[in-house]
Amino acid sequence: MTQQRKAVALISGGLDSLLAAKVMLEQGIHVEGINFFTGFCVEGHTHAIRKQDKAKPKRNNALWVAEQLGIKLHIIDIVDEYKDVLLNPKHGYGANMNPCLDCKIFMVHKALEWAEAHGFDFIITGEVVGQRPMSQRKDTMPVVARESGAADRLLRPLCARNLSPTLPEREGWVDRERLYGFSGRNRKPQMALAKEFGFEDYASPAGGCCFLTDEAYSRKLVDLWQGRGAREYEMDDIMLLKVGRHIRPAPHYKLIVSREEGENNFLAGYRKLYTHIIITSHPGPLVLVDGEPGDADLELAARIAARYGKGRTAEKVTAEIHFTNGEVRTLEVAPLPPYEVKEEWMI
Ligand code: SF4
Repeated sequence: MTQQRKAVALISGGLDSLLAAKVMLEQGIHVEGINFFTGFCVEGHTHAIRKQDKAKPKRNNALWVAEQLGIKLHIIDIVDEYKDVLLNPKHGYGANMNPCLDCKIFMVHKALEWAEAHGFDFIITGEVVGQRPMSQRKDTMPVVARESGAADRLLRPLCARNLSPTLPEREGWVDRERLYGFSGRNRKPQMALAKEFGFEDYASPAGGCCFLTDEAYSRKLVDLWQGRGAREYEMDDIMLLKVGRHIRPAPHYKLIVSREEGENNFLAGYRKLYTHIIITSHPGPLVLVDGEPGDADLELAARIAARYGKGRTAEKVTAEIHFTNGEVRTLEVAPLPPYEVKEEWMI
């Protein structure tokens, strides 16, 4: 009896990794999935917070994909190790703060370590040649295989026929003829294959899997580092960059202003960690203050907070400033008129 070979699949929650794993299952391979949690994953997080995204399913797409495939999924937290990948990418960044090539190398390397520790034979990904400008090019895909250490144990079932045969193909563990030769940014072949397999409700093919490819998010991340004078971050920092309006009236402090009830509730979870402002005389946003503001800064911050509340046209509003030591200061302030809100404050 031939031995059933085992593959570990990188599962992002998107269509490509779903299809790649399915192609292997169809060939009788035992597949288990790995999903790496970096803290920058888009997933259901912001959808779960904001009201305007209510229609979007609040689900963890990687778990959902595993359920569709009937495979085990291992979610692995790499938040701390990932910092070095993001802060010091050997191959640099993509269009924004996305270190895609280093990220892919790192994830495949981690998957290889896992595969070796658990007796798996090879690794699969949903990569397609020419689909992404940085990590999925004909010249960079071999770099991922080489620098991750996976070498020819890395199989990309969706585009394998455009690449040299890998170990699983040469050894006959998988049939190369039943792999695919997709290339480029056209998503139609993947959509057709999804239909063939009977998948209809997959995550949007155009949706990015990570906030680091997002221009606005990347700008806020760089601003965070500039504001602190150090390229470093904690989990809370990167979560807060996903939420609210970020305003920096001066280099030494910034404000995070909730835009709606869901964000208000989310930011409320951080009240003990940050000085925060609440407008008590009118409904308004919760505002977190990050940095080292002085008294005049806090007064301006309260006026900005008032500008985004229902009392924006009132002559005066009452604002409470809550400090992390428990002290509360009450101010009567005039909401800042729109023409005094400077464009360069907006991050
Ligand atoms: S988009 Fe994000 S998760 Fe995906 S390879 Fe690039 S940096 Fe990594």
